[in-house]
Amino acid sequence: MTGTGSAAASVLGGLDKTRPWQEDFYRHLHQHPELSHQEHNTAAEVAKRLGSFGYQVHEGIGGTGVVGMLHNGDGPTVLLRADMDALPVKEQTGLPYASTVTARDLDGNQVPVMHACGHDVHVTCLLGASALLANARHDWQGRVVALFQPAEELGDGARKMVDDRLAAVVGHVDVAFGQHVLPMPSGLVGTRPGSTLSAADSVRITVHGRGAHGSMPQAAVDPVVLAAMIVVRLQTVIAREIDPTDPAVLTVGSIQAGTKSNVIGDQAVLQLNVRSYNDQTRGSILDAVKRIVNAECQASRSPRDPEFELFDRFPPTQNDPTTTARVRAAFDAFFGDRARDLPLQTASEDFSDIPNALSVPYTYWGIGGIDPDTYHRAARAGRVSQDVPVNHSPTFAPVIQPTLDTGTQAMVSAALAWLT
Ligand code: ZN
Ligand code: ZN
Repeated sequence: MTGTGSAAASVLGGLDKTRPWQEDFYRHLHQHPELSHQEHNTAAEVAKRLGSFGYQVHEGIGGTGVVGMLHNGDGPTVLLRADMDALPVKEQTGLPYASTVTARDLDGNQVPVMHACGHDVHVTCLLGASALLANARHDWQGRVVALFQPAEELGDGARKMVDDRLAAVVGHVDVAFGQHVLPMPSGLVGTRPGSTLSAADSVRITVHGRGAHGSMPQAAVDPVVLAAMIVVRLQTVIAREIDPTDPAVLTVGSIQAGTKSNVIGDQAVLQLNVRSYNDQTRGSILDAVKRIVNAECQASRSPRDPEFELFDRFPPTQNDPTTTARVRAAFDAFFGDRARDLPLQTASEDFSDIPNALSVPYTYWGIGGIDPDTYHRAARAGRVSQDVPVNHSPTFAPVIQPTLDTGTQAMVSAALAWLT
């Protein structure tokens, strides 16, 4: 048994052996992306490889979810998670291994498919970390749970695994880790205690009016005016009701009503997106939305109660400070000045549904995916947001190295902070 630092160096010494197949596997995954809940080939490939490393493998959890477990003597259990799904985006990276795949989405539409969020990076790094740990069992003690989840992009993949016997499969877990490739220079790894990713909620609101001729407004309850009042009034929720030091967003992204200039319709549908960083603020905003919509409907003499439908919901990601400090110390020891502070992210993730369901502390970090020269040239020109493609863009193309090495090293060194 050795210290964490020398154990990390020893286990990661095996990277020269895993790197070649990791790079091949990454290109293969990138070229063969699969949509949310359809990750059948990815999951089968992951399960096969985990089995070959000596992991006990459970497949088909929550649909296509895969869990591999490696027991290596007495010690803590560390859960490492990667998401597997791709997006309905037409790839425009020009890479030799770009995707030309199309697939039928859950609504039956034929759509292009691309790993535009970099989940192929996460899968490849976690598989590499799983292999490295399996190949160096004399350097650590405990249990590793490698979890590959479906459908992060829909916000329900983690929840589906939890609801499908996950706790019974994995047993007692001590700590959970997740990571994401982000538009920062490749080679960097960023940690952050506390609020890290936002909670997201989408709300579909239907308000009712009374239809009439456009020339006879006295016979109508105009849903267009009602919807307009709601949009304006909703702007006061963040501005007037939420603590200015507590970041939150409320966007009305869609408003649909009416068909013709001289017809007053009988309903309007609004779609909102809400971002917040803790459950209390999240609840306050959603309560305020309901209160305002109900009150505006009453003010407009709306003949029926409005309807609210919540969808695309993601929990907040709030990194446990103690866990994060321990991971950060391991990253500082291994990566030196490549270990950085991660800024607060406005994106959302469903990772925390897993540790929350298992009542386990967690931390979630970011790794860079952008070619450092490209990034720094953009930064010098003050054009990072224009010139550096972000996740979900058709030109998002993480450089293979040092991105894969960094994500693999991060998973291994974090795990060893518990396993040595
Ligand atoms: Zn994404
Ligand atoms: Zn993602």
